[in-house]
Amino acid sequence: MTRPLDGQIALVTGASRGIGAAVALRLAEDGAAVAVNYAGSTAAAEDVVRQITDAGGRAIAVQADVANRDDCQRLVQTCINDLGGLDILVNNAGITRDNLVVRMSDEEWDSVIATNLGGVFGITRSAAKHMMKQRRGSIVNVSSVIALVGNRGQANYAAAKAGVIALTKSVAKELAPRGVRANVVAPGFIETDMTDVLPEAVREAALQEIALKAFGQPEDVAAAVAFLVSPSAQYITGQVLAVDGGMTFV
Ligand code: NAP
Repeated sequence: MTRPLDGQIALVTGASRGIGAAVALRLAEDGAAVAVNYAGSTAAAEDVVRQITDAGGRAIAVQADVANRDDCQRLVQTCINDLGGLDILVNNAGITRDNLVVRMSDEEWDSVIATNLGGVFGITRSAAKHMMKQRRGSIVNVSSVIALVGNRGQANYAAAKAGVIALTKSVAKELAPRGVRANVVAPGFIETDMTDVLPEAVREAALQEIALKAFGQPEDVAAAVAFLVSPSAQYITGQVLAVDGGMTFV
């Protein structure tokens, strides 16, 4: 049985938990070898790798802080050295440090920009050199619908995620002549550790905004990523695909 990503090698950042873990598992199911990046959750990342290898796939866990430029370079190089290349990059790692803008500390602003936007830049810069040289590759960056509509208490996060969209469109234009595509997935409210910490009242208010009246699952985002990196999406680049149950459409 041939699968859409047979023979391809993928790097997924922040793949120890939540959306990233679901993406890593889905890309492996579709035939890709996967580098599972994480920041601190070694056991969780190794568990994702084990799930892939138990199913007959190929995967490695790689610790790296995407907010650190040396780590970004090392992460991309490790994927190329240990798995034998890099065809698919999913920039998924992200954090929140919510606060109202008048109360937001420099640390809250800087850490979110450094991780959620700087991380995408750092990894993409290293990966793009390799992909341009081989004249093949696909990048999916995980933004958020918050980038499109804003959110109280998330000025840092919204700015970083909007930056990811602008960065992706620029990268898509720069790399298209070399056969490399770049797209964005913008999740809405997805049930992960990131949203589990939100108070019930916030969750209930969010649910009211969702046309399909249900929260999303990590697998819903993984399915969109799997499509965008697949040959089925070979004519799609520079696009933003919202996976939000109809939370933000106009
Ligand atoms: P999550 O459950 O909190 O998982 C975050 C992942 O990112 C973990 O694997 C974590 O690794 C990793 N990570 C955090 N900082 C990192 C760093 N500096 N370097 C490398 N890895 C790092 O989050 P999630 O809900 O799955 O979110 C994944 C992405 O989707 C994020 O970019 C988030 O902004 C975006 N998103 C989520 C939602 C949602 O509703 N959940 C909505 C829109 C967008 P460790 O386990 O090692 O800490």
